[in-house]
Amino acid sequence: MSDRLAAGGTEREAHAPGSHGVAGTIPLAVPNIGPLERHYVVEAVESGYVSSVGPFVAEFEDRFAHRVGARHAIACASGTAAIHIGLILLGVERDDDVFCSDFTFVGSVNPIAYLGARPVFVDSEPRTWNLDPALVAAELDRRAAAGEELPKVVEVVHVLGQPADIEPIVDACDRHGVAILEDAAESLGAGWSAGRYAGRHTGTVGRVGCFSFNGNKIATTGGGGMIVTDDDALAERARHLTTQAKVPDVGYLHDEVGYNYRLTNIAAGLGLAQLERLDEFVAAKQRLARRYDEALADLPLDLPPRVTGFDATYWLYSVMVSPADGRGRDDLLAHLARRGVGARALWRPLHAQPPFAAARVLAGSVGDGFFERGLSLPCSTDLSEKDQGRVIEAVRSFFG
Ligand SMILES: *Cc1c(COP(=O)(O)O)cnc(C)c1O
Repeated sequence: MSDRLAAGGTEREAHAPGSHGVAGTIPLAVPNIGPLERHYVVEAVESGYVSSVGPFVAEFEDRFAHRVGARHAIACASGTAAIHIGLILLGVERDDDVFCSDFTFVGSVNPIAYLGARPVFVDSEPRTWNLDPALVAAELDRRAAAGEELPKVVEVVHVLGQPADIEPIVDACDRHGVAILEDAAESLGAGWSAGRYAGRHTGTVGRVGCFSFNGNKIATTGGGGMIVTDDDALAERARHLTTQAKVPDVGYLHDEVGYNYRLTNIAAGLGLAQLERLDEFVAAKQRLARRYDEALADLPLDLPPRVTGFDATYWLYSVMVSPADGRGRDDLLAHLARRGVGARALWRPLHAQPPFAAARVLAGSVGDGFFERGLSLPCSTDLSEKDQGRVIEAVRSFFG
């Protein structure tokens, strides 16, 4: 059996016949599953604890909390589930406004819709590719001055493993008493090494942080997620809500509408192994990024942000193509596909997604530009030097 679990959409599509045209295509990003993962998963299966009652779940939560520096971690069935519960913890209800990054994966915002709340999309800034703090601050100040309702939550996404410029967002939210939820689904292993939050991991600055262990993330459980918080009461409520709101030790008493959102013990076994290898994965992503940076520096591409004091993981190594001679991003994608390189376009911004067409947007077209110009290059943690060389040659040959 292959070590490669067909767990992530990214991987499945990368391997789908015909999706990239060339046999032996270098996939965009595949999970790195080895003997340690097999060991823990087999142990979970053989223990008989296959569902969410089992020792690996608690152990995974404890080690995860320790790793990111949070007081509590609550394991969930997915990152989307973690965000859903996170928003409930912060009091989001029907018709509330929630500010959210516009340029991100749809999993960031679907939970806002589940609750009947209204997303307000905030454009990105070119420096970090993440939500623009100046737009958040200006809109909060404007609403407060006009006596308009404030958002219940500002959801800050750290896209592609790049920490957002969190300090001015915290300042603006503190000024107006607005809670922050961090969507750190793509930024496990990333954080800040300078400024007020030096030494902090993404996901631990806001009142609630959420992570994902989908098959294409830097560490995977097949499917899974995590809520982190320093707040004891919120952590207790998160455990309650993710387990059908069951009141302990009272026969089938459920005191509110809950969710079946817990991670299974088998998945937690996989997660424990991946967590033990996280430093290895982060180092591999950063090494790949440095080599791409050096090899592509002279081309008409915007390379990923390098912001002093922001320690990115480069989870998906992504570049922006500057169109030239009538050729742009789509031409580069087609060129790479013909050469067996599984690159992929970046996301369509959320304001352009049909279910959110009516949502309000705070200024700008930075995210639209990312969608038109952006693509990710293969960056599996076990990508060989030779295969990365093939990718680099394929990109360079496009520019002649
Ligand atoms: C993957 C992802 C999610 C959702 O996580 P799942 O585990 O796939 O549900 C949410 N937000 C972002 C930014 C993501 O990349």
